[in-house]
Amino acid sequence: MSTAIIRDAVTTYTLSAIEQINGFDTTIDPDLLNAIAHSKREIIVEVPLRRDDGKYVTFRGYRVQHNDARGPFKGGLRFHPTVDLHEARTLAHLMTLKTAVVNIPFGGGKGGIACDPRQLSMRELETLTRNFTNLLSANIGPRVDIPAPDVNTNPQIMAWIADEYSKKHGQSWGVVTGKPLEMGGSVGRDEATGRGVMYATREAAMEIGLNMTDARVIIQGFGNVGSFAARLIEQELGGKIIGISTSLGGIYNKHGIDLERAENHYAQFGNLKDFAGGEWLTNDELLVSDCDILIPAALQKSITKTNAKSIKAKIVVEGANDCTEAEADKILSDRNIFVVPDILANAGGVVVSYFEWVQNLNNHYWGIAQVRGELERIMVSAYNHVSAVAKERRHGMRVASYSVAIERVAKAMILRGM
Ligand code: GLU
Repeated sequence: MSTAIIRDAVTTYTLSAIEQINGFDTTIDPDLLNAIAHSKREIIVEVPLRRDDGKYVTFRGYRVQHNDARGPFKGGLRFHPTVDLHEARTLAHLMTLKTAVVNIPFGGGKGGIACDPRQLSMRELETLTRNFTNLLSANIGPRVDIPAPDVNTNPQIMAWIADEYSKKHGQSWGVVTGKPLEMGGSVGRDEATGRGVMYATREAAMEIGLNMTDARVIIQGFGNVGSFAARLIEQELGGKIIGISTSLGGIYNKHGIDLERAENHYAQFGNLKDFAGGEWLTNDELLVSDCDILIPAALQKSITKTNAKSIKAKIVVEGANDCTEAEADKILSDRNIFVVPDILANAGGVVVSYFEWVQNLNNHYWGIAQVRGELERIMVSAYNHVSAVAKERRHGMRVASYSVAIERVAKAMILRGM
């Protein structure tokens, strides 16, 4: 019997994709499809830390292992105060769908620690990461569950995880991805999610007949995803970036933003306030400002039922995971705004994580041209497949992506006899 499902956006999309699949493919048992909505294992740990002032504290850590029918669990670890079981579960579920929609041999997982890393010294961050790794060490591994960077985690943190795990298990670089180049990282992993967003943007623009060299683009979020996406859309597609933001607010300039200057300002001050190259807006104002393409690349739920009515973009490319509320998604689709959903749009990161893992297992390393070429091939073929399914079944890209992913996971579960 199935347990109660919390109706978040991801579950709502999953259930509507399941309805669609049942309409088209009656060979999949509905109970099996429903089982896909649940995680296989959910781990909660209390991570101890001795603070620099000598006091002992604990932080709650999570790892949700959602589904491993198609390969080891795969997905990031985030260090953020909002991390909790529900968030990890939702994001793990999205990872199962993401690895399936781009057809790489992984399942889905997600986790992290509920903490504010800005309040920790480097030593505290390292100790916390190592203690967390030890608590998870029986449940992760290159053939079991492979974490990666996510919000507020980076190559240095991945290096500590790989080192700590390797102390017990022998050198095991394949236990995490997103590592530094010096210890088994892959070239091109840093830019990978932003580069994948750029490919998704290019394909979507082509599909609706929007010329990228005339396109005006707003990107919400200037972290790893948003900053690389902005730079690559400008450099490789010739798009004009007219809006960028951080959590504090953003800059809008209809003539285009000088990205290099914005990046320098951000590197110096950690935000874009007082950056002279445009008008200062709140994030809510920026999302509904005039543009052709909107790329939310910040935290979850930025597109709400309130702002969805006023979004001006023709295309929304979801750089961030779970950034659109279910009611907002319906509004966007009623308004004929073309949405490339998160599980497809931001899959570039996990695709290059897959390349990193392959390189680690083979102990043989690729060059940048091979990484970029393979990433483009996988992103474009996943995009084309989803787009063909969307047209054939006459629904949007989100339900099409979910259907493609769920059918792949369900077929693997049947073949394995799960
Ligand atoms: N955190 C990234 C994501 O949400 C990357 C995950 C990975 O590389 O495993 O897709």
